[in-house]
Amino acid sequence: MGIQLFVPTFRVDECLEEIRECLEKGWTGLGFKTVELEEKWKEYTGLPHAHYLNSATVGLDMAVRILKMENNWKDDDEIITTPLTFISTNHAILYNNMKAVFADVDEYLCLDPKSVEERITKKTKAVIFVGLGGNSGRLDEVRKICKKHNLKLILDAAHMSGTRINGKHAGFDTDVTVFSFQAVKNMPTADSGMICFKEAKYDEIARKMAWLGINKDTYARSVSSKGAYKWKYDVEYVGYKNHGNSIMAAIGLVSLKYLDRDNAYRRQLAQWYNEGFKDCEKVTTIPVAKNCESSRHLYQIKVDKRDELLLALNEAEIYPGVHYRDNTEYRMYDYAKGTCPNAHKASETILSLPMHMRLTKNDVDYICKTIKEYVK
Ligand SMILES: *Cc1c(COP(=O)(O)O)cnc(C)c1O
Repeated sequence: MGIQLFVPTFRVDECLEEIRECLEKGWTGLGFKTVELEEKWKEYTGLPHAHYLNSATVGLDMAVRILKMENNWKDDDEIITTPLTFISTNHAILYNNMKAVFADVDEYLCLDPKSVEERITKKTKAVIFVGLGGNSGRLDEVRKICKKHNLKLILDAAHMSGTRINGKHAGFDTDVTVFSFQAVKNMPTADSGMICFKEAKYDEIARKMAWLGINKDTYARSVSSKGAYKWKYDVEYVGYKNHGNSIMAAIGLVSLKYLDRDNAYRRQLAQWYNEGFKDCEKVTTIPVAKNCESSRHLYQIKVDKRDELLLALNEAEIYPGVHYRDNTEYRMYDYAKGTCPNAHKASETILSLPMHMRLTKNDVDYICKTIKEYVK
C-alpha cells in the first residue's frame, strides 16, 4: 500500500459504542449527540458559541452569509483572502455574490499582513484568514489590521482543531471561526464541521439558518414543548439543511477525546522530519509561528523541481500531496492572476509529506532519506 499522505485513525470500539447509543435511543439526527459535541467543543476550546454542521464548507458559506445579511454588505463588496487554500474558502465569498480579493502569503504560507493592508479599499468588509496546516502565521497582526479598519475577521480553521496561540485555542478573538472534521482532517469524523461565532446574536441566527430557517429545532421541540404545539414553529429565513447529525457527532466525540494526544504525536512526527532535513540545504522547511502550538495537520517543505520529486517519491511508494494550487490560477479568478507572486512561487515548490497517526519514526526516516537522495 505504500506510505499515504493522510490516513484517518478511528477508535473503532469507542465509536461504535457512541453510535449504538444513538441507535438504541432512536435518535440519529440533529440534537442529542450534536448538542453534546457542541458543549464539549466549547469546553475544550473556550470559545463562547459553537454550532455543529455537516461540513466546514457550509460553515464558511454561513459565516459570510450571516455577516453580510446582518451588516448590510452589498453584492460586489470585497473580502480579502488567501490564494493558498482549498476551494471551499473562496467559494464562500462567491456563493454570496461578493468579490474575492487575493492578498499574498508570507514565509508561513499564511496571509501576509502587509499585503492585506495594501488590498483594503472602501468596499472591503472582511478578511478570511486560513491557518494553513494548523499554523497561525501572523494572525495576530491581521487581527489588529481588521480592528483598525473595522473589518470582520473570519478564520478558516479547517486545519486548526487543537491549535493554540499564546496558550489560547485558535478562534479566540475572531468574529467567526469555522472548523472541519472531515475524514482526513486532524479531528476526523466522515464529514462535519463547527461554526463558532463570537457574538450570541449571530450564533442564534446560525442555528436557524442551518435548519431551513425554522426558529426551533426538532430536538428542542421534542424535549421542551408539550403536546399539541410541537408543530407550531415559525420560519424566519430561507435557510439551508446544513446542520450536523448525531451519528457523525458520536464519532466526533471520540475523536475530540484523543485530539490533544494525536496532535502531540503529529508534532513529534514534525520534529523527526525537521531533524531529518536539518543539514539538507535543498529542502526548505516551513516554520511554525513562535507563539503557536500547531495541530500539525500538515508538514510542508519547499523544493525545486517539486513535480519530479513527487514522481520519484511515488516510485518509492511514498504518496505526498500539494496544499495548495495558487487559486488565482483557476479560470474563475483570472482577474487576480499575477497579483500574489509569493503564493504563486510557493505553489510550484511546496510538498506536503505524509502526516498521520500510523506513521512511525522508521517511515519518517525512510521518507527523509529518499528525498535527500533525490535532491542531492
Ligand atoms: C477541508 C477544508 C475545507 C472544507 O472542509 P469540509 O469540512 O470538507 O467542507 C475548508 N477550508 C480548508 C482550508 C480545508 O482544508
